Amino acid sequence: MKEKINQEFRADLHCHTTCSDGSMTPEEIVRLAHELDLSGLSITDHDTVDAYEVAVPLAKQLGVELISGAEFSSIQDKDSVHILAYAFPLQNRVLQAFCEKHALRRRERNREILSKLAKHNIPISEEEMLASLTGTLSFKRTLGRPHIALAMYRKGYVSNPQEAFRKYLGEGKLCFCQGESFTAEETINVIHQAKGLAIIAHPHLLNSEGTLKKLLKLPFDGIECYYAHMHANQNERWLQIAKDKNWIVTGGSDFHGELKPQISLGSSWVDQERFSVLQNHFINA
Ligand code: AMP
Ligand code: ZN
Ligand code: FE
Ligand code: FE
Repeated sequence: MKEKINQEFRADLHCHTTCSDGSMTPEEIVRLAHELDLSGLSITDHDTVDAYEVAVPLAKQLGVELISGAEFSSIQDKDSVHILAYAFPLQNRVLQAFCEKHALRRRERNREILSKLAKHNIPISEEEMLASLTGTLSFKRTLGRPHIALAMYRKGYVSNPQEAFRKYLGEGKLCFCQGESFTAEETINVIHQAKGLAIIAHPHLLNSEGTLKKLLKLPFDGIECYYAHMHANQNERWLQIAKDKNWIVTGGSDFHGELKPQISLGSSWVDQERFSVLQNHFINA
C-alpha cells in the first residue's frame, strides 16, 4: 500500500464509470482515487451497480474505503430528479431487479429519442450510440442521452456534446423524451427495501423551487450538500435543510471523465465523520 502523503480524510461520494456515462473504467477510477490520496469513494453510476464487481476487490487491495452507491433517475410531477442510494448490501435482489427495470426503460426511451432524431435528419444507429464512449461494443452499461450526444458530435451533427443537449436532448428540447420512469417516492421505497439510504442529488440543479418543496416532504435520509463547482454560499442552504430535518449530509464531484472534463475526481468530498455515518448504516443494515 502507498504511504499517504496527505493525512486528511477525503471521500468522494459521487462519480461515474464506463458502466454508465463516465469515460473511465471501474478499475481506472479506483486507481485514480488511490493516486489522488482519497481515503473513501462511492461509485454512483446511473441505474446500475455493475462497477462494484471489479471495484470492491481492487479498492480493498489498494486500501481505498469503498461504500456502495448508485444514482437513480426519477420523476416528480414531470420534473426529472436524481436520487443517490448509498450503503446497501450489493447482493440485494430488490435493488438488482430495480436496475433491470431501469435498463428496459432506458432501452425504450433511447429508441424513442433516436427515432425523433432521425425525423430531424440526424440518423444515429444503436450501434453508433453504443460505441460512442469507448469504441467498444462488448461492455454492458447504462445508456442514455450522453452517449447519444457523443455519437451526434462524432458524426458532425453538432460542434460539441453540450450543443446536442442545448438543441435536441435537454428537457423540453426538440427530441427530448422523458420515458416511463419511477416517481421519487417509488425510488425511495425501493432503496429503503434494499436497506440503503436515499439522498437528494445535486439539489441546486432541480428545475424549480416547487419541486424542491415537494421533495422535502418525502422520506429521504439525506441531501447532497457538497458538489463540484458549487459555491460555498450555496452549500449553506443545503446544510441548513439537512440540520433542520436531521438528515445525512453527503457530497461528491459527479466526475464523469472526458464527458465533463471541467470536473475532476475529488473536487468535492466529505470528511471521515460524514463518511462513517454511511459506513455505520451499512454495518447495521
Ligand atoms: P439521462 O440519464 O439519459 O437522462 O442523461 C442524464 C445525464 O446526461 C446527466 O446525468 C448528465 O451526465 C448528462 N447531462 C444532462 N444535461 C447535460 C448537458 N446540458 N450537457 C452535458 N451533459 C448533460
Ligand atoms: Zn451522468
Ligand atoms: Fe445527476
Ligand atoms: Fe451523477
